[in-house]
Amino acid sequence: MVIIVGAGLAGLACAIRLQEAGVEWLLLESDDHPGGRVATEITPEGYRLDRGFQVLLDSYPTASSLLDLKALQPRYFQSGALMVGEEGWERILNPLHHPDWLLSAPLIRSFSLREKISLGLLASLQCLRSDDSLLGQESGISALQEISRFGLEGDVLEKFLRPFFAGVFLDNDLGTDASILRYDLKKFALGRALLPANGMGEIPRQLASRLASSRQRYGARVQALLRKDRAGDCVFGVELASGEKIEADHVILATDESTSCLLLSLKEQRAWSQVSTFYFTGNDPLYEGGLLVLPEGKNALVRHFTDLTNTAPEYAPKGKRLLSATVLNPPVGDLSGLVQKEINRYLPDFREWKFLQEIRIVRALPSQIPGFHRFQPERRPTPNLWLAGDQVAHASIDSALASGLRTADEVISCR
Ligand SMILES: Cc1cc2nc3c(=O)[nH]c(=O)nc-3n(C[C@H](O)[C@H](O)[C@H](O)COP(=O)(O)OP(=O)(O)OC[C@H]3O[C@@H](n4cnc5c(N)ncnc54)[C@H](O)[C@@H]3O)c2cc1C
Repeated sequence: MVIIVGAGLAGLACAIRLQEAGVEWLLLESDDHPGGRVATEITPEGYRLDRGFQVLLDSYPTASSLLDLKALQPRYFQSGALMVGEEGWERILNPLHHPDWLLSAPLIRSFSLREKISLGLLASLQCLRSDDSLLGQESGISALQEISRFGLEGDVLEKFLRPFFAGVFLDNDLGTDASILRYDLKKFALGRALLPANGMGEIPRQLASRLASSRQRYGARVQALLRKDRAGDCVFGVELASGEKIEADHVILATDESTSCLLLSLKEQRAWSQVSTFYFTGNDPLYEGGLLVLPEGKNALVRHFTDLTNTAPEYAPKGKRLLSATVLNPPVGDLSGLVQKEINRYLPDFREWKFLQEIRIVRALPSQIPGFHRFQPERRPTPNLWLAGDQVAHASIDSALASGLRTADEVISCR
């Protein structure tokens, strides 16, 4: 029997593969629902508040093969962004998805011709490379250094690249390894970002619905691993917070890195990014199109915001709208007034909107600075104990799913 600890995306993918192979498995999750960091809260009024602004890309290979995308009722963003700053608004679109926009691209004021060519080159080079070669090894330089190597500084950095990728990496300094920038550039260039009509939480719900419910236990927190001897070479099960002991031949920790380190008595080596998503509601549209809005500059409080109902009207009750605004590493205290004030500067009508809720995620993504693989815990610390998820891969929905599948395959092959 195989115990999987954690019903995040990695744990769910792992269980699906084991179930398909006819292996006996049990999924133990401390929370009362599946999904881990991918979840949607539904308010009594019917707003769908994702636990942090997240998107699924249809260019993600594992997600595309594992999920029934159509059943998620995908609502697609436009491929691009709205840049806002002192000089007004400007729209930038991905010419691969919006070829008509190429006609107006030469008129973009924010970037010089040289910057437009360099940006195109940076993105096209990644599209020619395989996913494995892009992510296979760390680059040894940061995303910011990679961007500078292409001469992309000044406005193109502060109006577009920083706000966009800081929001993706949850890292305002762009200190994340350049390999992740290259991979994400490829995925955003070739794919489209989407939201399931009923919230990101539909992704884990769909996966969990394919699994035998009798083998999924929620509200079951694992507090210790059962080990045969003090040296702890082999585990033979887990102990729950309730004191119940469950034996297993193999244990897979598909938990977050902090939990794995705790269970394995390891010192956690990577810092976490923190993020807050502020939700606001209003009655009238603020701008046109399903686009992410990027306030310019390194020091903007709001890293990006979007009227989610422009993309997925189902996120708000009929006649209402829902806007999400992302703040990285938020200081302690109530920031909703400051967030509203900052967005008001660009959209005066936003004054009429009401603050709904802040969702603060203290452990959002583990640091992925150059060299980060060296600081991740071991994937297989003992012969029958595995780790899966973004603690041992890079942090994304697709990587978590792929890591779950890979771990299941390894367990199956060694049985
Ligand atoms: C704000 C935010 C925005 C993001 N944006 C994107 C995006 O746009 N696109 C993208 O691809 N990725 C994004 N990501 C990254 C992506 O969501 C994660 O990398 C991925 O969900 C990690 O999945 P996981 O299964 O590895 O871990 P988790 O989701 O953390 O799952 C671990 C599970 O283990 C459970 N658990 C922990 N301890 C125990 C215990 N003791 N006993 C039992 N169960 C336990 C937890 O409750 C949880 O369910 C974002 C993440 C965040 C937080």
